[in-house]
Amino acid sequence: MPRPDTLVFVTGTSTEVGKTWVAVRLAARLRVRGARVAARKPAQSFAAGQGPTDAELLAAATDENAEEVCPRHRWYVLAMAPPMAAEALGREALTIADLAAELRFPAGTDYGIVEGVGGPRSPLAADGDTVDLAAALRPDIVVLVADAGLGTINAVLLSAAALREWPLVVALNRFDPGDDLHAANRRWLADRAGLSVVADVEELADRVR
Ligand SMILES: [Mg+2]
Repeated sequence: MPRPDTLVFVTGTSTEVGKTWVAVRLAARLRVRGARVAARKPAQSFAAGQGPTDAELLAAATDENAEEVCPRHRWYVLAMAPPMAAEALGREALTIADLAAELRFPAGTDYGIVEGVGGPRSPLAADGDTVDLAAALRPDIVVLVADAGLGTINAVLLSAAALREWPLVVALNRFDPGDDLHAANRRWLADRAGLSVVADVEELADRVR
């Protein structure tokens, strides 16, 4: 496949921590800076009638079609991890190799942003998880989206250990610089754990270069 100049793999400490939100804002920020950005969601599962899907949000941010972001046959309308949803819906089992092979980027893409599903060890296919997909894609950088508040250090350290093969930046979502706990968490992760930590999209856009 034509590989983007920089392949940015976005995962999170868990589901609902804001992976899509961060990916959308990063894509928009990079585009404002003049970069050509494509976003990909290898598979998505969701409950019907809950608003736009991740693929639709990413497509809006990158001026693509939602079916380019996530091929229609990888949309699972059931709020379960994709391999479980596939099974429950009677659809064909999916593999990490299938998902990796389906990723296509337009020639000349500066940044390809790939959003995983759930957390690093959430099932993504019948035979693997987000860490396995990252191993197949060999990203230039992994963005680990995390909450900024209580509990985030444990979640970040466990996730970062699973992702240690690749350069990693921790993006603290919903970070409030005026919140003492958020500021202390940021310092702990950077100074004690030695992680690269950002707290806003501008810093993140600088870091993925
Ligand atoms: Mg998402």
